[in-house]
Amino acid sequence: MSTIDELPPLRTVIAEHDLVPRKQLGQNFLLDLNLTSKIARQAAPLEDCIVVEVGPGPGGLTRALLANGASRVVAAEKDPRCVPVLEDIAKRYPGRLEVRQMDALDLDVESIAEDRTLKIVANLPYNVGTQLLVNWLSVEAWPPRWQSLTLMFQKEVAERIVALPSSSHYGRLAVLAGCRTKARILFDIPRQAFTPPPKVTSAVVQLTPRDAPLPVSLAALEKVTLTAFGQRRKMLRQSLKPLGGEALLNAVGIDPQRRAETLSIEEFVAIANACKL
Ligand code: SAM
Repeated sequence: MSTIDELPPLRTVIAEHDLVPRKQLGQNFLLDLNLTSKIARQAAPLEDCIVVEVGPGPGGLTRALLANGASRVVAAEKDPRCVPVLEDIAKRYPGRLEVRQMDALDLDVESIAEDRTLKIVANLPYNVGTQLLVNWLSVEAWPPRWQSLTLMFQKEVAERIVALPSSSHYGRLAVLAGCRTKARILFDIPRQAFTPPPKVTSAVVQLTPRDAPLPVSLAALEKVTLTAFGQRRKMLRQSLKPLGGEALLNAVGIDPQRRAETLSIEEFVAIANACKL
């Protein structure tokens, strides 16, 4: 079978290196080159920026990024078994792929940027995916160094990121993402495209920084949304009691009888700014 880069097919690489997928690392590998290229193209152009990839695994998406013109990819992978495979890819693209064997939660993305913009592209491990997203959204200086996030999540998580008020998926993630970015689902990826197939459908989401982010501390917004949506069926005067309840809501002109899922992102921001966390 021919490949996009004359490297051996992914299935051969995985077999030769005995890369048995590990559930605890969220290893569901995407071996379909059409799909990995489709994701890479969504993040294009890739020539003038640094691409950060989290969890390259055996390198399917990495190879697509490089074949689609990425001039520099920094890939953070926790599993040491994947490093030799990724180093073979680096040899095929001299000077363009840097492999870091590490936990991506410890990766300081902003410090990689140098004077170039960053794009983060990843088929994220499901167990740390939302935490990584919140970290990337939480940088103090805005706009961030990254220009876009093109990320694969479980579809249900993707829906929570892009959800609008008064919809069933609306919650903490939609508020955190929406106050700083514009987010949209690009396409779904069926379970069968992965090895091994995960339990649920996946979806690729793209987030780009808002020009005028709503001014608020993300830590405060996180606290308010966690508290409010922790009891999403209750009225806000009850669910937000630990933060000031009725008095707090009256101070920002929000009816204490409303429920969390009916509040706009702007209203959550007003509450977070008023309770001075
Ligand atoms: N990118 C590959 C693909 O699309 O086939 C693999 C994606 S797989 C869903 C997630 C990858 O993230 C695995 O390679 C796994 O080892 C890696 N991983 C899991 N936890 C990680 C962490 N905390 N930091 C860095 N990589 C991690």
